Amino acid sequence: MIRILILIIYFCTSLIKILSKLHIFTKISATSKQKNMLIRDIANYLEKFAPISLQESYDNSGLLIGASTSEVNKILITLDVTEDVIKEAVSKNCDLIIAHHPIIFNGIKKLTNSNLTEKLVVEAIKSNVAIYAIHTNLDNIIGGVNSILAKKLGIKNTRILSPKSGGFKKIICFCPNDYTQIVQKAMFDAGAGMIGNYDTCSYVSSGTGTYKALEGSNPFIGEKNQLHEEKENRIEVIIPEYLINNAVKAMKNAHPYEEPAYDIYTLDNTNNMVGSGLIGEIDTETPITEYLKTVKRTLGSKYIKHNKLIDRPVKRVAICGGSGSFLIDVAARNKADLFITGDVKYHDYFEHTGNMTIADAGHYETEHPVKELIYALLKEKFPNFALQISEESANPISFM
Ligand SMILES: [Zn+2]
Repeated sequence: MIRILILIIYFCTSLIKILSKLHIFTKISATSKQKNMLIRDIANYLEKFAPISLQESYDNSGLLIGASTSEVNKILITLDVTEDVIKEAVSKNCDLIIAHHPIIFNGIKKLTNSNLTEKLVVEAIKSNVAIYAIHTNLDNIIGGVNSILAKKLGIKNTRILSPKSGGFKKIICFCPNDYTQIVQKAMFDAGAGMIGNYDTCSYVSSGTGTYKALEGSNPFIGEKNQLHEEKENRIEVIIPEYLINNAVKAMKNAHPYEEPAYDIYTLDNTNNMVGSGLIGEIDTETPITEYLKTVKRTLGSKYIKHNKLIDRPVKRVAICGGSGSFLIDVAARNKADLFITGDVKYHDYFEHTGNMTIADAGHYETEHPVKELIYALLKEKFPNFALQISEESANPISFM
């Protein structure tokens, strides 16, 4: 009896091994956990967190290769897409790579393997691997690339170092007094009324609306072909530009009128929740060399290049993961003791000598924590989905 049992266990184990080698078992188990997950489900979720409209003008975030309606079974997360990373995706049965850096920036007119981009695009298509990039839209938000960097470096009470101007709209709509709260709530639920750390912000004023319902209309209140006066409230709310369509749709759905009257204004307000870099403080004033050693160890930097070290302890620290030398002056204006970024050029080191230490800890080193961030974001929403951080995503720069 025991022999038969052992034989059955041996047979089942062998069968599972064979199936897993054929990549069948992996796919069955992955799909059975999370059925029919499409690339667009993943993209929609990520873009709700980091809207594409917040990316820089030169950028190319979003789905770069593949169809949004394709099913996805396993995701590989990387900083960069390289040939090794595509091979890794294939070997691990990942059908979607999520990268921080887009592999395509400019228009491609031919695919003849004449440069690295063309080679990678062809390789990904041949391998049936979709590629999605989440780049400066993830750089430019609270909770994005710089927030995870700040967390790793013990920088607290952070705010955006260089907030963006614009990107806001104002919706003004008019509705019968009794419907004010319903219409307000619909717009709040659609993302309107957020100002800094305050939500449900609006302004309501009272007045009288007039209209005459014509033939073909179906007025909520009032008679056809008669001038009607109605006590109405004017509701004003601010909303990020990328949410405007949602909010207008929500307002119209909640509004009792057949033809709600509303205005949309473009605002030049600065958005303190969106922009480049972060600035904050570390818990205690720390000697500059001691803190830079912590940065080096934490980020795994081989070297930290810096200008003259300030002769006071560090408390206020500005950061920009990746390539942030364009923020050096902004960091100094915000009285940072130390600015940490990557890709600092020779002449930049002459700036702000004695006032602020500029430290280049490496482009890769200041950005690679983004892989953990993307992993955590996806895991939170899709806890049972198969995800993997790339083991082949490495710093392209070597040191000797
Ligand atoms: Zn980068």
